[in-house]
Amino acid sequence: MNREKTQPDCVFCKIASGEIPAKIIYRDDEVFAFPDINPITPVHILVVSIKHITSLAEMPDKETPLAGKMVRAANQIAREQGIAKSGYRLTINSGADAGQLVPHLHMHLMGGRHLDWKH
Ligand code: AMP
Ligand code: ZN
Repeated sequence: MNREKTQPDCVFCKIASGEIPAKIIYRDDEVFAFPDINPITPVHILVVSIKHITSLAEMPDKETPLAGKMVRAANQIAREQGIAKSGYRLTINSGADAGQLVPHLHMHLMGGRHLDWKH
């Protein structure tokens, strides 16, 4: 359910609150970001909503501007990480077929090497 702003058992809510440590590289009032613990590219950052939203599929229509804020933050981080010109990919996994493991809305910012398209 998305009625609560945080979920006590959620790993990304715990990172947002500082209960689980992570190297926070970006934070504003709605979005924060930290390196993926299991990176699959040289630059692999998670851009995460502070509010607990379970998935893209569960995101209420009124929260749609949040997706733009995540993109804006990811673009800024890509510049800071030096991959804005070389290229990067933003991915949001939603649900089982997409391989979503953490049920809290987040975007993967990946770059730093050539990325195959089909996988
Ligand atoms: P997804 O499959 O889209 O749900 O991606 C979840 C991502 O979160 C995976 O790439 C994990 O490596 C990453 N992850 C899980 N726990 C942590 C953590 N404590 N710190 C950083 N990244 C994490
Ligand atoms: Zn959460």
